[in-house]
Amino acid sequence: MMDSLNKNNAKNRGLQDTKPDAREEEGKEFCPGYQDVDAFVKYGLGAVLLATKASGSLPQAGDEFDFYRSFPGFQEFCEVQGDQLLLCMSQIMRHHSCRSRIRDRDKLTGLEERFDLVVDSNDVILEKVGNLLDEADGVNRSQQPVMPEGFQPPKIVVSSWNRKSSGSGRRSETFRLLQAKNIPRPQLKFKEKIDNSNTPFIAKIFIKPNALKPLPSYFTTKQFRKEKPEDLDVPPALADLIYQQRTQEHIEDMFVHPYQFELDHLTVPDSLLSKTEPQMYKPIEETNCSFVETLEELVALNEKLIEVSEFAVDLEHHSYRSFLGVTCLMQISTREQDFIIDTLALRSEMYILNEAFTNPSIVKVFHGADSDIEWLQRDFGLYVVNLFDTHQASRVLNLARHSLDHLLKHYCGVNSDKRYQLADWRIRPLPDEMALYARSDTHYLLYIYDRMKAQLLDSNNGQTGLLQSVWRKSKDVSLKKYVKPIFTEESYLEVQRKQKRSLNTQQLTAFRLLYAWRDKLARQEDESTGYVLPTHMMIKISEELPKEPQGIIACCNPVPPLVRQQVNELHLLVQEAREMPLLKAEIAIQRRKGLTPVKKPQVTLFGPHDTSRAPECIESHISADELPVKQGVLFSDDDHKSDDFEKIRGLVAPAKITLFEEPETKEIQQSLSVAQVKARRIIESFENPFRMYLPPSGVHVNENAKLDPASKLFEVSKKWKLRSMEQQQRELESAKKRKEEAKQQAKKAAEERQKAKQSYQESLQNVATVRQQAAECAKEDGKKRERDSSEPGESTPKLSKKLKSADKKKLKAPPQESFTPFDYSQSDLKVFSDVKSKDKSQFDPNRQSYDPKKKKTAGGKKSNPGAGNRSMSYLAGTSNRGFRHNWPKR
Ligand code: AMP
Ligand code: MN
Ligand code: ZN
Repeated sequence: MMDSLNKNNAKNRGLQDTKPDAREEEGKEFCPGYQDVDAFVKYGLGAVLLATKASGSLPQAGDEFDFYRSFPGFQEFCEVQGDQLLLCMSQIMRHHSCRSRIRDRDKLTGLEERFDLVVDSNDVILEKVGNLLDEADGVNRSQQPVMPEGFQPPKIVVSSWNRKSSGSGRRSETFRLLQAKNIPRPQLKFKEKIDNSNTPFIAKIFIKPNALKPLPSYFTTKQFRKEKPEDLDVPPALADLIYQQRTQEHIEDMFVHPYQFELDHLTVPDSLLSKTEPQMYKPIEETNCSFVETLEELVALNEKLIEVSEFAVDLEHHSYRSFLGVTCLMQISTREQDFIIDTLALRSEMYILNEAFTNPSIVKVFHGADSDIEWLQRDFGLYVVNLFDTHQASRVLNLARHSLDHLLKHYCGVNSDKRYQLADWRIRPLPDEMALYARSDTHYLLYIYDRMKAQLLDSNNGQTGLLQSVWRKSKDVSLKKYVKPIFTEESYLEVQRKQKRSLNTQQLTAFRLLYAWRDKLARQEDESTGYVLPTHMMIKISEELPKEPQGIIACCNPVPPLVRQQVNELHLLVQEAREMPLLKAEIAIQRRKGLTPVKKPQVTLFGPHDTSRAPECIESHISADELPVKQGVLFSDDDHKSDDFEKIRGLVAPAKITLFEEPETKEIQQSLSVAQVKARRIIESFENPFRMYLPPSGVHVNENAKLDPASKLFEVSKKWKLRSMEQQQRELESAKKRKEEAKQQAKKAAEERQKAKQSYQESLQNVATVRQQAAECAKEDGKKRERDSSEPGESTPKLSKKLKSADKKKLKAPPQESFTPFDYSQSDLKVFSDVKSKDKSQFDPNRQSYDPKKKKTAGGKKSNPGAGNRSMSYLAGTSNRGFRHNWPKR
């Protein structure tokens, strides 16, 4: 490692030193020592690879590192290498005209500050790279080529600079950077529209295979889900209250994990805990790989899966051009075969796999399933009962690294190629190399599972303890629930804090308004917030507060399409921020110095055990970041009696030892008009019924208390303490209740089981019908598919229609219509972002109410959102009216 680093550094320095010289080779050589760009890039990439590998083999932070640190030799080595690296980095930064104080040891530049410098420089450099790539790609931003729609095929960039030298010999192989321009948005073809509303996620399940406990009536009864707050003819806040009371009795059911009971009662059969001989995987070239694109194929796959005792699963995901993200591909490997499922095409039908996925006697092997479990719930309503996560196994086995690459190398001697991990998985048809990559993520996994199982037993003298702990940990992973990102009035502070830039009141207001604009637009247009307006651009605009719309454009390079489109809107927001009273930077400075946690105190005169400066807040549900505690500063240059301080005084708790106190509240950043305060009070007096299910970051402190000068913040805190005690009490009680219930359940279990089985058996018959129908339709469809693959809605609506009538007979109360709840973001946003009433006329897919008359489309065909849809309780999708047409043309 040392050698390679030294070599690299030497070469790098050589490069830098010789740069200004006009050498004789010039003209012949691309740059000294390198014949052409290829040679240079090849060397460069090799060096980067070596350095990455080398850094990976450094002792890990924590014990390992501390242990090595105790050797002077190691310490010295670290210093020398560290200096060289910093030198190298600062040279690169300077070359790109970035701030480069990174080496400044005298100034005691903290690690964080250095990290910021690196992040900034990376932004600048990557932006340049992006522009150059576009240029190389023939994209001139000022001069977009006009092409007929659908003319541009997925574009594959083949560049000479990304040649990879293959392992043996000098032969180099061009690899292709898979990214496509003008990929049609898969969302447009989804039968059920995506629900980006600012409401918590509710499980998409309406039929529960392998149930020990039946699905709560909420999911199976249409009546409950039909009720919407906006149906009530009262002001929204009041409607909320009424709706809240009405849904109260279902609220627990709505947010419970549908397979919680089954997972709680899952026991790993002895057969899985005993030693078996690992079964070698079939060579990938000799393995059949099926691409699953139709319902018929999916049903056939499901039937295969319920016959095996284990299969491996992985997903590929896309998150840039979607607000919540979309699962694009599912790979499944059995011992015999690989399958790649086009989950964009089969999104609404994927739920049928629950039969195999929740069957407790079939092991599902994933690697690092944390995200997969959430994506499965979010997109398909799929759950996993009996998961074996090889990532968890790797941890329990204490392997050197826990990545899939490492396991592949370690157990199978396979060098995997993770370059495609970040490819755009929406591309269709799927290029061969991407399919191959995707397959390799699951192909070897069952063998790895065998090997790890054996190793877990061996390393524990044949005892099953370790193996069981892997299953337990995997079960915890499968118990994870998908949580939708929720916009709160404080969300922007989280993001702003991470930037560690001090903003004055105007700048902070701009940031807050831009953040709300971005969130709203991203939800509305179904784009990621990063696509709408990257955070670093948002910061730049906030810092500069441009006077002209053109100035906003100038802050962004490249300019995000939606920024260009709505630059006037943005300009209004910036103007609004400029109208804020400018409280100099004082408050911001105070915040930085004491009121908000100072992550690394600038002067460390305190011992390591002095917690008075430590931001850590032990046993608190509010993150330390949110502590508005005035912390001790030895020589403060703050003027505590300044007007500004007086203004926020009531909001600031006196300095205290945070270890024993609960934090109280956040300070308020904005000053509001009288009307705004009033509106806020009214709205605040109604609790969001979902509040308790919101993610902890959105801990809600009633704003009335903050705004009312008479109220004391510790009372708020008390209230919250009380509330949490109440909740604990409630939990205790419900735990007791559950125990009692469990007893009763034991009695009823047999009965219920029978019921569930029966109901599922009935639904199975439906699946069989589905299958027959799929086969029927496949015949018809075959022709159509040849003609036009872009009409996936054709066959399935018919199916779901039939399914529906079948369901009517078989299920007790089939939910048919979905509804959209009141969009809390409306009321929140109004107060928060002070959005002009003009916005109301803007289309909001989540505001649509359901109109059964609109269900009929021109052709008279029912554009039913599909069988799977009925599971969707919060369907924005039922709003066919104009939804599609409101997407901006791309
Ligand atoms: P994998 O389980 O490695 O196949 O990854 C599944 C999906 O996670 C990929 O399709 C990516 O969308 C996403 N992903 C994986 N690794 C990364 C990463 N390093 N950064 C961002 N996204 C990732
Ligand atoms: Mn994965
Ligand atoms: Zn994968």
